[in-house]
Amino acid sequence: MSDADELFLRIIAREVPADVVYETETTLAFRDIKPQARTHVLVVPKTRYRNVAELAAADPGLLADVIATAHKVAELEGIAGSGYRVVFNTDADAGQTVFHVHAHVLGGEQLGFFGR
Ligand code: 5GP
Repeated sequence: MSDADELFLRIIAREVPADVVYETETTLAFRDIKPQARTHVLVVPKTRYRNVAELAAADPGLLADVIATAHKVAELEGIAGSGYRVVFNTDADAGQTVFHVHAHVLGGEQLGFFGR
C-alpha cells in the first residue's frame, strides 16, 4: 500500500485533518479537499478495500453502509430533495487516485453530464 492509499486510513485515525461532516461505526464522511461541486463529500468505509468491486465482493453490508451514509450526507447538506450524484471512480481509466474505496457525493448545483 502506498502513502497515498493510506491517506484515508490516516484521516479515519484523525492523524491527518479533514472536515468531517458525518460518522457512523463503519463509515466516515468528509469534504473533498478539491471540491468539484458546491457539495463534494467523500464517504469511506473504515475498513480499507481497494475499490468498490472488492468491497462489494467482500462485504456487501459495508457497501450498503457507505450508500446509506452518502444519502445521510445529502440530507445533512440539504440536497436530498433537489438531487445529487454518488460516484465510485474505479481504477485507472476512471481516474481513481486513492486506492481506498470512496464514494464521491456531489450536488448543490445543476451537475453537467460526465464521461469524456
Ligand atoms: P479519486 O480520484 O481517487 O476518485 O478521488 C480522490 C479524491 O480525494 C480527490 O477528489 C481528491 O481531491 C481527494 N483528496 C486527495 N487528497 C485529499 C486530502 O488530503 N484530504 C481530502 N479531504 N481529500 C483529498
